[in-house]
Amino acid sequence: MNDWKNYINQNGDFELPNFLYRTVNDLMKQSLDMGTLLSEDQYKLRAYKEQTKKLFKNKWFDLAEALEHFGIIEKCVCSPINNSGKEIYCDVCKGARYVINSALSPNEMREISMFVGAAQGIQVQEKLQKGLMKLLEEM
Ligand SMILES: [Zn+2]
Repeated sequence: MNDWKNYINQNGDFELPNFLYRTVNDLMKQSLDMGTLLSEDQYKLRAYKEQTKKLFKNKWFDLAEALEHFGIIEKCVCSPINNSGKEIYCDVCKGARYVINSALSPNEMREISMFVGAAQGIQVQEKLQKGLMKLLEEM
């Protein structure tokens, strides 16, 4: 089972692209296993496997492209894959080639809310001070 809770890294960020990538990969593996069950023809089986891998890989990039368009995820530093076409394992995205948009990570959101909180704190302080001055004036 592909549990999303396993995709929260040590910074508390949800590795959404990696989670989706693994989910698509799991489906691909199941399809590959099914093909192995259905065909004993090695030649056909190899063609089937190659085609299936390509299809799933392309679907992942379709999905990722849409999520990137809406600013949910962004390309990893390792993307695009180097010119030789060889896939090098990347420790940042773990093969997904995408990472969650840094503006959406819980750390960043926490910073924003702290900033907003601090700004509100200043307003409250100002109001209290004004109220106090008014009180003093009236006295
Ligand atoms: Zn990467």
